[in-house]
Amino acid sequence: MSKETKYIFVTGGVLSSLGKGIAAASIATLLKNVGYKVSMLKADPYINVDPGTMSPLEHGEVFVTDDGAETDLDLGHYERFLDEDLSQDNNFTTGKVYSSVIERERRGDYLGKTIQVIPHIVGDIVDRIKKAGEGNDILIVEIGGTVGDIEGLPFLEAIRALRSEVGKSNGMFIHLTLVPYIKVAGELKTKPTQHSVGELRRIGISPDMIICRTEMPLNRELKDKIAASCGIERNAVIESPDMQSIYQVPLSFLNQNILEPIAQNLNLKNPKPNMQNWDNLVKRVIAPSTEVNLAFVGKYIDLKESYKSLTESIIHAGANLDTKVNIQWCDSEKIDSNNVAETLKDCDAILVAGGFGPRGVSGKIEAIKFARENKIPYLGICLGMQLSMIEFAKNVLKLEDANSIEFDENCKNPIIYLIDSFIDANGNKQLRTHTSPLGGTMRLGGYECDLLKGSLLAKIYNNANKIKERHRHRYEANPKYRAEFEKAGLIVSGESDGLIEAVEIKDHPFFLGVQFHPEFTSRLTKPNPAILGFIKAGIEYKNAR
Ligand code: GLN
Repeated sequence: MSKETKYIFVTGGVLSSLGKGIAAASIATLLKNVGYKVSMLKADPYINVDPGTMSPLEHGEVFVTDDGAETDLDLGHYERFLDEDLSQDNNFTTGKVYSSVIERERRGDYLGKTIQVIPHIVGDIVDRIKKAGEGNDILIVEIGGTVGDIEGLPFLEAIRALRSEVGKSNGMFIHLTLVPYIKVAGELKTKPTQHSVGELRRIGISPDMIICRTEMPLNRELKDKIAASCGIERNAVIESPDMQSIYQVPLSFLNQNILEPIAQNLNLKNPKPNMQNWDNLVKRVIAPSTEVNLAFVGKYIDLKESYKSLTESIIHAGANLDTKVNIQWCDSEKIDSNNVAETLKDCDAILVAGGFGPRGVSGKIEAIKFARENKIPYLGICLGMQLSMIEFAKNVLKLEDANSIEFDENCKNPIIYLIDSFIDANGNKQLRTHTSPLGGTMRLGGYECDLLKGSLLAKIYNNANKIKERHRHRYEANPKYRAEFEKAGLIVSGESDGLIEAVEIKDHPFFLGVQFHPEFTSRLTKPNPAILGFIKAGIEYKNAR
């Protein structure tokens, strides 16, 4: 295989939310299953330094990498498709680029030169792309946003320049557009695609392939029309119709021989991917043998994008258990002690997801109490673990005014509190103070966790002693109450450098709270053990009903 990295640049046209990330990840998956070493990069033209401070309502989930970067949710898709851990080098924004260029300018690194978009900003973007490509056969680079956005221009200039530098056989452009179906005319329209390609050409980029998002299949004639009007090869017009599952997309692309034009462009020899395992799993996503009902208790249920990794991890577990997991979305703000039994009566498992701020907390606590008392399988993630301890403290230990200081700074019994320091994975003491600004003050990324032998947690992780999972939180369980909890039956089954990472109830078939986010490491081909164990417990509960 060549020592040089080949680049596939993916841009989007017409409008956003077409699934550019899924298309890019699908191509990456096919190439990985040919045997190439493939990585991916998302370059985002917005100005935020990272999405860490962006509201999930506006931007969907913040995906956390193993090395602790808060990244765009597309990185989650990349990892789930590619089954590779990505890092902070696999996502950057305009904000990050400008920060580092300005920092260098202040330091005097540019020796008095005038700092300009070209060459300095564009040069920094090119350097970052090259860095992400190092050591890989192929790097897929997705440019965020839509062609025509003002803020995207330096990024497009960067990929134009980089492709000139590496040559045609080492770089290709794929443009994803929308081919809308106009109902009243009964017609698919190619004009927006032509305009969007025209816009790209104006800045010096001629796409080598066009992927058309569409509700309807495109016939040969229409594909030929797009090829002719956009100046690309006939076999390089690929359709991407709406699918029941995103995991079908690589298979749909493969059926259309997408690797043929890619191989022609990049000079690859007869790429034949092995998608057998993938194909089997997708069949179980589409037509599973059984089903189970899961109550998903959260406060962002109108915006399911903010729980993307979690809902995907549930799909992975379901596929591996040949089960359809029906998610019953329960708005925690609407749950109270009067309606909790009615709300949760049909569910076989209850999940309380992570979250920030006091909204919806009391409803989550009611759901947890219901799961605990009725012995329904329960998984609490991050805030879901913290609240399961608060619920236990209130209702079992009868501790008055038990709370998290996130919700009441002066509560009498701070079950969840803020620690000023903790020891990080490298053994360094990290300082954390309550008064820090919001951005960049969380415990982030992968940390090792020691599992209690014989515990439920150890069992579902195949009797491992140590696991590594990712975090995104500010507050911690207060060890002061540990003995009291354990005496009453809520035991600590996971620990990391003295921090409480997991709790479970001894006298319950499956009641688990984890401070980490198991969903971030789940992949279609490798479901996360905690999620898998939880769904399995739900199936057992259903069968025993
Ligand atoms: N708000 C809690 C904390 O900061 C939990 C965070 C989460 O659920 N991701 O610790």
